Amino acid sequence: MWPIRQPPRITFGRGSAAGMDRPEGCLVVTSRGAARRGWLEYAGLGDCDIFDSVEPNPSMETARRILSEFGSGFGCVVGIGGGSAMDVAKYCAFKAGWRKIMVPTTFGSGSEVTRISVLKVDGKKRSFHDDGIFADEAVVDPAFIDDADEEVVRNSAIDACAQCTEAFDSTIASPYAKFMCNAAFDMLEGGILGMDRDRIAMGSLLDGLGFGNASTTLGHALSYVYSNEGIPHGRALAFTTAVAHRFNGSRYAARFSRLVDKLGFEGVRLKQDRDEAADTIMEDRKHLDRNPVPVSRDDVVRLLAEVDGG
Ligand SMILES: [Zn+2]
Repeated sequence: MWPIRQPPRITFGRGSAAGMDRPEGCLVVTSRGAARRGWLEYAGLGDCDIFDSVEPNPSMETARRILSEFGSGFGCVVGIGGGSAMDVAKYCAFKAGWRKIMVPTTFGSGSEVTRISVLKVDGKKRSFHDDGIFADEAVVDPAFIDDADEEVVRNSAIDACAQCTEAFDSTIASPYAKFMCNAAFDMLEGGILGMDRDRIAMGSLLDGLGFGNASTTLGHALSYVYSNEGIPHGRALAFTTAVAHRFNGSRYAARFSRLVDKLGFEGVRLKQDRDEAADTIMEDRKHLDRNPVPVSRDDVVRLLAEVDGG
């Protein structure tokens, strides 16, 4: 027996955000620059109350700030932006009981269709999982990718590739999750190799539906110690997931590495001691217990050295 979990309503297509239906009086949660980029005007959100201070790798404090400033008086939140903005919006709405509409403007986190919210607690990334975190509606409009800068597209696309391939291999992947993850990777790979941004946007949606019904694994578990040192999520995964795929003997190992080469990421190197980092990583049972191959602390130390290129 396995469930299919996803938001009750998903709209995909160019112009879908511009024509979106929403209740009166929504709170908009987004990152700085949303207004300048014209997102709010495009999506008809110009007259809404706006919180536009979601930072990259957002913290629980940001969510608490929104809840204390806007806790009452709203029935609906629109999260518009990258994974960070949507993760904060979903978490706040989950706590406050608001309706949630998610509009991704970068394509890779899959947050618009997952039951996951990643927030920093005491300086460390933690992921919260609950069916109550699902959006009521996801509006996926590839038009936003036209203006996205190269760096953002690159980091988001490799995140999506890491998510769907790790999830395909995860011990809890259902036939549905495997089907979606594989379709997502095919679409993303075609999009990246052919520099076709619309295919990347579509692949990202399929990725969210796939990995949202399974779990990421070792590649993500290894990545967070790099994120905690300020390395963008996608750039960290370019190396941690490549190493994890080789360790796991993943069928995607070679294809994933080819995409990392194509996108041309700058290498990463951990600042903190690897033994210390390994202790943090070993606590991440949510990811490690779903990895297809058991992972020991010694494995983790060795894999970190491999990620660092030595
Ligand atoms: Zn990710």
